[in-house]
Amino acid sequence: MPLNLTNSYSALGPAFSQQSLPTPVAKPSLLLWNQDLANELSIDFSAEKDSAAIAQYFSGNKLFSGSEPIAQAYSGHQFGHFNPQLGDGRAHLLGDLSDKQGQYWDVQLKGSGTSFFSRQGDGRCALGPALREYIMSEAMFALGVPTTRCLAVVATGEAVYREQALPGAVVTRIATSHIRVGTFQYFSARNDIDSLKKLTSYAIERHFPQLKGVEGEALSGEQIVDFFAAVIAKQVTLVVSWLRVGFIHGVMNTDNTAISGETIDYGPCAMMNHYHSDTVFSSIDRNARYAFGNQSKIMHWNMARLADCLLPLIDEDEDIASAKLAPLLQQFTDDFKQGYFIMMANKLGIAELEDTDHELINDFLGIMAEKKLDYSQSFVTLAENLSQEEVNKVITQVKSPAKGQSAQASADEAGQAQDKWQQWLKRWYIRISADVSGAKDLMAKTNPLVIPRNHHVEAILATSQASYQKNGDLSDLNNFLAVLQQPYTQLDDTHNYQDAPSDGDENYHTFCGT
Ligand code: AMP
Ligand code: MG
Repeated sequence: MPLNLTNSYSALGPAFSQQSLPTPVAKPSLLLWNQDLANELSIDFSAEKDSAAIAQYFSGNKLFSGSEPIAQAYSGHQFGHFNPQLGDGRAHLLGDLSDKQGQYWDVQLKGSGTSFFSRQGDGRCALGPALREYIMSEAMFALGVPTTRCLAVVATGEAVYREQALPGAVVTRIATSHIRVGTFQYFSARNDIDSLKKLTSYAIERHFPQLKGVEGEALSGEQIVDFFAAVIAKQVTLVVSWLRVGFIHGVMNTDNTAISGETIDYGPCAMMNHYHSDTVFSSIDRNARYAFGNQSKIMHWNMARLADCLLPLIDEDEDIASAKLAPLLQQFTDDFKQGYFIMMANKLGIAELEDTDHELINDFLGIMAEKKLDYSQSFVTLAENLSQEEVNKVITQVKSPAKGQSAQASADEAGQAQDKWQQWLKRWYIRISADVSGAKDLMAKTNPLVIPRNHHVEAILATSQASYQKNGDLSDLNNFLAVLQQPYTQLDDTHNYQDAPSDGDENYHTFCGT
């Protein structure tokens, strides 16, 4: 048996989940298998030898020994409106397992049939969104963004109906946990303080073992405050990482915000092309609540919702409890701003952020927005064109204006002949002149050469689905994945996926992956 699962979450008791078996599928066949991830988790399967067995297990047709599948309960604010009962309507947590470092991971099937929480839904997932989640999460992982991952995509051999009949699939998601802000809200809405305490202890054990107290002793208010601070720190890192690579989550509801700080729920996500903080692609995000540049504000709002849930665990007096968490919410704003500017400085090759860099960064963003320049390409191009020689030229010009050129003439040149862009370039060159090769190295590490661009993802999904139905050939998808897995290295095929869409994705819309 290549997997021995434990069931730590179902052990929390019936308030937390519903026992629920995956619904078997007609004809499971393995489409994608993440061998690297399988190795990390010591899952002793290989796609060459075991494809039939993998398809059986990771469609839910067969269960691993020890697995007691459950559907987890959670609530959530969806686009600002509270829904007290969401829960896994099309997912089954098979159990958890520990990797070689002792870190525990959830193994969850998605698209594996209905549960107590399905409401009107069919519990299923179409092949397109399953492949999309695999591509996007693997790309994000390779980009260095905290994320849930995909272990497998198995076609079910059954149709799912979404306005039309589509091939169905089950995707296996691996996460350090599936605890969401919405999981806390579920118990908070029911005023179930005991379960809130249990959940917090579990989350501390899983994600922040350094905060653990004495075995058997109740959590102190101080521990809860530390827990909140630790969750906040994870979310700051997460959103800063998203902004580094131009990722727009698209549906940052509190049920899609994991306590672990991993990107979860790839339904309507997209990548930004030309820079604009208002960029939105999700067809259901009509008020641009989850626009690119709004993501830190929304994460702050989501953290405030988590704070609401934790108050009764800190002090009976809500004002006293509030006074302990409010400074941490302010800290979120400050830490985000600091993390963001350090990240942007790094993208410009600046290792140590200085106060004046804020203006340099904002001016560059302003130029990109005004000229509709591609976000990813702009940084890559800056780095490519950066050389000691160019920088020296500019520096000597600045130190000694060309002979015969009066001070007035050079001021005119600065004001008129040179456009904003040239002026900005000069400021940037001066800023990084002390260590040009260091700047270049830093830029190579922080600016991906390739991202999973929307138009390439969609084209690959279209060809993959067509060829899957004809002959099962997924070589285009696998070539794309091979490039996305090394986004900071120029491979032979990288150039095939670097281009921005010719229409700027003006009419591109994403949908929730149902
Ligand atoms: P999501 O938009 O994927 O974050 O899902 C929001 C809620 O809808 C969650 O409770 C999901 O389990 C549920 N859901 C989404 N799609 C389906 C489906 N096809 N069948 C049942 N429940 C679903
Ligand atoms: Mg969700």
